[in-house]
Amino acid sequence: MAHTIEPAASGRAKCRGCGKPIAKDEMRFGERLPNPFADGEMTLWFHLRCAALKRPESLNETLQESATDIGDRQSLLKSIEFGLEHRRVEQINGVEKATAGRARCRSCREVISKGQWRIPLVFFEEGMFNASGFVHVACAARFFETTSILPYLEQFTEELLPEDLEEVKLTLDESN
Ligand SMILES: [Zn+2]
Ligand SMILES: [Zn+2]
Repeated sequence: MAHTIEPAASGRAKCRGCGKPIAKDEMRFGERLPNPFADGEMTLWFHLRCAALKRPESLNETLQESATDIGDRQSLLKSIEFGLEHRRVEQINGVEKATAGRARCRSCREVISKGQWRIPLVFFEEGMFNASGFVHVACAARFFETTSILPYLEQFTEELLPEDLEEVKLTLDESN
């Protein structure tokens, strides 16, 4: 079966992109994939916004074919276009302060020290998002070839205080 865009039948399904529930009747994206553990297919549900950021290629296919009335189609298409032009941004899974100085940055290869801002990355494979390391926020420009990544940082971070957001913005501005 093809992917689908349809209203959520209940409020129970959680979005694979952000982990939060999808409200009943909200339009959602269902990505259908072969089930790696059994015969048949499985459907992964996403908020449209989360799908535009994390699964731009699949959502694009479906949006182009779907006549369904989607209020923010234009803004979704814009995010998709951006994601297709900058292929690594779909791996962004929020932003956080490093809790320990062990992981190395996937861009500069230096250790990310405790307290430095880092971006957790995920890699989509067989219907799962798997953790795949970190990059310094300060290395964003080189790694992602853009610093226009705030929507990704905000969408996939549980809680970003205004002062944290300011720090992240400053670090992004100085990123090279
Ligand atoms: Zn979501
Ligand atoms: Zn780095």
